[in-house]
Amino acid sequence: MDDLACQELVELATEYLEGALGAEQRARLEHHLSHCDGCHAHLGQLRAVVRAAEALPEERLSVAAEDELVAAFRAWAAGG
Ligand SMILES: [Zn+2]
Repeated sequence: MDDLACQELVELATEYLEGALGAEQRARLEHHLSHCDGCHAHLGQLRAVVRAAEALPEERLSVAAEDELVAAFRAWAAGG
Protein backbone atom coordinates (compact mmCIF):
# COMPACT_ATOMS: atom_id res chain seq x y z
CA MET A 1 0.00 0.00 0.00
CA ASP A 2 1.32 3.43 -0.94
CA ASP A 3 1.90 5.69 2.01
CA LEU A 4 0.41 9.15 2.30
CA ALA A 5 2.55 12.22 2.77
CA CYS A 6 1.81 14.12 5.98
CA GLN A 7 0.59 17.01 3.81
CA GLU A 8 -1.93 14.73 2.09
CA LEU A 9 -3.19 13.51 5.41
CA VAL A 10 -3.80 17.10 6.52
CA GLU A 11 -5.92 17.70 3.44
CA LEU A 12 -7.98 14.56 4.09
CA ALA A 13 -8.23 14.81 7.87
CA THR A 14 -11.50 16.73 8.15
CA GLU A 15 -13.21 14.53 5.56
CA TYR A 16 -11.93 11.48 7.38
CA LEU A 17 -13.41 12.69 10.67
CA GLU A 18 -16.70 13.40 8.93
CA GLY A 19 -16.75 9.88 7.51
CA ALA A 20 -16.65 11.31 3.97
CA LEU A 21 -13.64 9.38 2.65
CA GLY A 22 -13.86 6.34 0.41
CA ALA A 23 -12.65 2.99 1.70
CA GLU A 24 -9.29 3.14 -0.08
CA GLN A 25 -8.34 6.64 1.07
CA ARG A 26 -9.51 5.81 4.55
CA ALA A 27 -7.32 2.71 4.63
CA ARG A 28 -4.28 4.69 3.41
CA LEU A 29 -4.89 7.39 5.98
CA GLU A 30 -5.22 4.90 8.81
CA HIS A 31 -2.07 3.13 7.64
CA HIS A 32 -0.19 6.45 7.82
CA LEU A 33 -1.57 7.15 11.29
CA SER A 34 -0.37 3.76 12.49
CA HIS A 35 3.27 4.76 12.05
CA CYS A 36 3.31 8.59 12.13
CA ASP A 37 3.16 9.88 15.70
CA GLY A 38 2.89 13.52 14.62
CA CYS A 39 -0.19 12.98 12.46
CA HIS A 40 -1.70 10.69 15.07
CA ALA A 41 -1.38 13.39 17.73
CA HIS A 42 -2.69 16.14 15.47
CA LEU A 43 -5.64 14.11 14.30
CA GLY A 44 -6.48 13.34 17.92
CA GLN A 45 -6.65 17.07 18.65
CA LEU A 46 -8.73 17.72 15.58
CA ARG A 47 -11.12 14.92 16.48
CA ALA A 48 -11.63 16.42 19.94
CA VAL A 49 -12.52 19.78 18.37
CA VAL A 50 -14.93 18.18 15.91
CA ARG A 51 -16.64 16.30 18.74
CA ALA A 52 -16.93 19.50 20.75
CA ALA A 53 -18.38 21.25 17.71
CA GLU A 54 -21.06 18.58 17.46
CA ALA A 55 -21.89 18.88 21.15
CA LEU A 56 -22.05 22.66 21.41
CA PRO A 57 -24.67 25.03 20.06
CA GLU A 58 -21.97 27.70 19.62
CA GLU A 59 -21.13 26.40 16.19
CA ARG A 60 -19.29 29.48 14.96
CA LEU A 61 -16.79 29.42 17.79
CA SER A 62 -16.11 25.73 17.32
CA VAL A 63 -15.66 26.05 13.58
CA ALA A 64 -13.16 28.85 14.17
CA ALA A 65 -11.27 26.60 16.56
CA GLU A 66 -11.31 23.79 14.02
CA ASP A 67 -9.99 26.11 11.30
CA GLU A 68 -7.23 27.21 13.61
CA LEU A 69 -6.19 23.64 14.33
CA VAL A 70 -6.29 22.69 10.66
CA ALA A 71 -4.08 25.69 9.88
CA ALA A 72 -1.62 24.71 12.61
CA PHE A 73 -1.65 21.13 11.37
CA ARG A 74 -0.94 22.31 7.80
CA ALA A 75 1.95 24.49 8.93
CA TRP A 76 3.39 21.58 10.87
CA ALA A 77 3.07 19.15 7.94
CA ALA A 78 4.55 21.64 5.48
CA GLY A 79 7.52 22.16 7.77
CA GLY A 80 8.10 18.45 8.30
ZN1 LIG B 1 2.35 12.01 9.08
